[in-house]
Amino acid sequence: MKIPLLDLQAQYQPILPQVRAAIDEVIAKNNYIMGYQVQELEEKMAKYLGIKYAIGCASGTDALVLSVKALGIGAGDEVITTPFTFFATASSIWRNGAKPRFVDIDPETFNLDAEKIEAAITPKTRAIMPVHLFGQACNMTRIMEIADKYNLKVIEDNAQGIGCTWEGKMSCSFGDIGILSFFPSKNLGAMGDGGMCLTNDEELAIKLRQLRAHGENPKYYHKWVGFNSRLDTIQAAVLNVKLDCLSQWSEGRRANAAFYNQQLASIKQVKTPYIHPSAVSVYNQYTIYCENRDGLINHLKEKEIGCAIYYPLPLHLQECFAELGYKVGDFPRAEKASKSVLSLPIYPELTDEQKSYIVEAIKEFYQG
Ligand SMILES: *Cc1c(COP(=O)(O)O)cnc(C)c1O
Repeated sequence: MKIPLLDLQAQYQPILPQVRAAIDEVIAKNNYIMGYQVQELEEKMAKYLGIKYAIGCASGTDALVLSVKALGIGAGDEVITTPFTFFATASSIWRNGAKPRFVDIDPETFNLDAEKIEAAITPKTRAIMPVHLFGQACNMTRIMEIADKYNLKVIEDNAQGIGCTWEGKMSCSFGDIGILSFFPSKNLGAMGDGGMCLTNDEELAIKLRQLRAHGENPKYYHKWVGFNSRLDTIQAAVLNVKLDCLSQWSEGRRANAAFYNQQLASIKQVKTPYIHPSAVSVYNQYTIYCENRDGLINHLKEKEIGCAIYYPLPLHLQECFAELGYKVGDFPRAEKASKSVLSLPIYPELTDEQKSYIVEAIKEFYQG
């Protein structure tokens, strides 16, 4: 049985007629740039997340770059974030001329350890950028307390966590700005790149809207040196169809996780994901700690089961950030995670048969 890490074919199959009709509508109207479907998605998303303003843009990465810029963070500033995340989290800070300042993770949740933030604050610190990694929200109560105490901005990198909650409140709604990614492998994926910024601050919303389109206000009069980073109408049209399915897909992911948690509990070489009692995860990834990871990967490969390492090298050790001066040993928990984590298929369309096959393969590897 061949099981990919993610099966987009299975995801599109039941909604293909609606998706095709939505794309046809864009072709019929020829409204490829900022067609009404973009605003429709922005309004739907703002409502879904309970946030006032949504601003579509070209990717999750751009949403982060736009957010840092909109908050006026640049040269000479520092932003506190996690070293155990996708590259774009830190590159968005760097590309604005500011410096990422890393703090280690909580080894249980993989998220930035809020208790380590205060020690990393300097006179240059302007913001905190928590990442709701693998679909689990960070401890936003603590992070917002610290941000308030030191007068710092907060940008939530919610590329992996659309719909996840902390103490019953939607991610993206705690900080000054929250961002989403519609990269195809995210829980709400487009048919290409796409992203979004969310904020309750009207002034920030206006600035973000201008920044995504060359900083114009009005047309051909440039208030800022902005970007060309709009969300394509075709992508928005597809996402409008898919957003209606998202809650159900998230439930499916949680049900799959519950199955794995129960089935893998008896394998002492595997540690299943810990979800904080205040968090509800949307499981963009189901990520385990495992012994003899290379061996398990080879075994799963033989069984044609997809898996992946998110992430093999923490960001403080990336070549491009060498001038920040970090070294091996600076963030032992992030380094340990990068050496022993593995993500398994968790997409909601997995069948019972597929899930059992995956569990049996892991049991076979460790228990013979
Ligand atoms: C995917 C991702 C991004 C970037 O999103 P793109 O849409 O691919 O540009 C940023 N941060 C995190 C944590 C991500 O997982």
